Amino acid sequence: MFSYRHAFHAGNHADVLKHSILLHIVEYFARKETPFWVIDTHAGAGLYALDGDWANKRGEFEDGIGRVWSHQGPMPELVDNYRELIRSFNEDGSLRHYPGSPWVTLSRLRASDRLRLFELHPNEVDVLVANLEESGRRAMRQTTIFNQDGFEGVKALLPVPSRRSLVLIDPPYEDKTDYRKVVTAVNDAIKRYAPGTIAVWYPIVSRVEAQELPRRLQRLPVRNWLNATLTVRSPAPDGRGLHGSGMFLINQPWNLAAALKDALPWMARQLALDGKAGYTLDFQQE
Ligand code: SAM
Repeated sequence: MFSYRHAFHAGNHADVLKHSILLHIVEYFARKETPFWVIDTHAGAGLYALDGDWANKRGEFEDGIGRVWSHQGPMPELVDNYRELIRSFNEDGSLRHYPGSPWVTLSRLRASDRLRLFELHPNEVDVLVANLEESGRRAMRQTTIFNQDGFEGVKALLPVPSRRSLVLIDPPYEDKTDYRKVVTAVNDAIKRYAPGTIAVWYPIVSRVEAQELPRRLQRLPVRNWLNATLTVRSPAPDGRGLHGSGMFLINQPWNLAAALKDALPWMARQLALDGKAGYTLDFQQE
């Protein structure tokens, strides 16, 4: 159950898609004065060393953030903002540190905003707690870490006191019941607070549950949704490795679709590993 370690994958193409969208949403939230909460149901360790053994073992970041980092010349605003964020973690100019979703969020949190993190893995949660303690008192005051099942734990937090919330759901999907649990958790979150923003990351793999997930989410009673996918290569013949992923948003910021129309073609070109790289963008906005 506990074999997934995000450190192997930190900064890969899926993180580029997920974290650039997450950053856009949190920046959008921070434009209005009313405080907001971010609930991250599968937080991971929070900060990753790209020159560490785990990240280096697979070198996945080299074809993800590595290609964005080294790009010369203009790039779409959504990706540029994301690269600036990664730069702020690597001020000496060499790419060695990578922020996971908790630190992408923390980068834009104001004093009145709140972050709630769930992480079930005992080692990951210890690292997450240690990383938060090192980040200083303000981050610690804003953030609560729960060593609990995020699918279950999110229920007790909705609706949040300020009524402005983002729920990020980013499970490992190693266990195929995660697909069902995602749909149940999203459905429950909508019932508890219909206007809330929800972001679900999912892998593009041959498993039927994965292919059905965005369709199942679209069928939920929601008026505003967006589904963005990024594929970097054709599937491997043995089905191994991740050739693409998607982000499904509910109640997305109104300006996200336009930002992605600009960013996704660039990402697909820049991160392409073969001629099958591409993207899709579908949304409904009322
Ligand atoms: N969201 C992180 C990011 O973007 O930086 C990456 C998260 S990683 C894909 C998934 C994490 O969920 C792993 O650290 C794993 O230990 C944890 N996990 C697995 N099942 C969980 C559950 N039911 N509740 C909370 N955390 C869980």
